[in-house]
Amino acid sequence: MVRIGVIPGSRRGSHGPLYEVGFSYVDGVAQAGALPLIFPFTRSLARVEALLDLVDGLLLTGGGDIAALVYNQDPVRVWGPDPERDAFELLMIQEARRRRLPIFAICRGIQILNVAYGGTLIQHLETGQQHAPRRQEEAIYHRISIDPESLLYRLLGRDTVVVNSYHHQAIHHLGEGLRDVAWASDGTIEAVEGTDPDHFVLGVQFHPERMLDGPEARILFQAFVQAAQGR
Ligand code: MN
Repeated sequence: MVRIGVIPGSRRGSHGPLYEVGFSYVDGVAQAGALPLIFPFTRSLARVEALLDLVDGLLLTGGGDIAALVYNQDPVRVWGPDPERDAFELLMIQEARRRRLPIFAICRGIQILNVAYGGTLIQHLETGQQHAPRRQEEAIYHRISIDPESLLYRLLGRDTVVVNSYHHQAIHHLGEGLRDVAWASDGTIEAVEGTDPDHFVLGVQFHPERMLDGPEARILFQAFVQAAQGR
């Protein structure tokens, strides 16, 4: 069975820090036929290597903001940074890239992916109304335009789709080795792909794991798992 490493987030609990990851990420991987494995944080390269030895692909999940110092900026609008997670994910991406291990990156995932490839982030979107709900329970959606010359277009078969949006940050300067392939109407980058044809790298700023009822989300998880299977 194809195995996918899933990186959780963390939060403070009353008895110390806790790992947390939405069931929907794990379900998205499982529904695509793979076995999800949730990975603990480490700053040790030897442990990162041992973790990646266990899997055929890596899923980068959503969460809080990446510390701005990681991409050489001072924090202006950064909420809830998690230095242990930042450090772990940067190591994981670096090693996964070296191995050409398929990567699927969601929301915060596309942001840390871009940072790991040397890019920077917009710390706060001024057109935030389009991208972040005012209240947490609110759901908002917007259209994205997809580059017809992209994997995303080949997978979805359409140059415009409606996606959900729960982010106040976004990619600013693209990292080297990534290209932007989908945009919101304000120009915000909503998807990226790797430029190495032998390495499956797909990042989306929206949350397919919250759209598992729809065909688009299932197509994306399946494409990722197929790439992992084909290694
Ligand atoms: Mn958006």
